[in-house]
Amino acid sequence: MTASDYKKVFVQLKAKPTKLNKYIKHNKPRDRKFGRAVTKCSRCGRTSGGHIGKYGLDLCRQCFREIATKIDFKKYS
Ligand SMILES: [Zn+2]
Repeated sequence: MTASDYKKVFVQLKAKPTKLNKYIKHNKPRDRKFGRAVTKCSRCGRTSGGHIGKYGLDLCRQCFREIATKIDFKKYS
């Protein structure tokens, strides 16, 4: 499966509730208490890559790079 989020397929299966339930049963990721899957980027939902949880940011490094200047971070050099 290539979808980054398993919920994207819900749109396709909305007309078929039985198939949707079967899809959820077999494809829903486990609810985790710790590990990489817990630290999700609040902006794009990315789980891997540099996660920045410091200062309560909860962003991946890519999103942080995009919005750093907007949230008053200053780049030196
Ligand atoms: Zn992100």
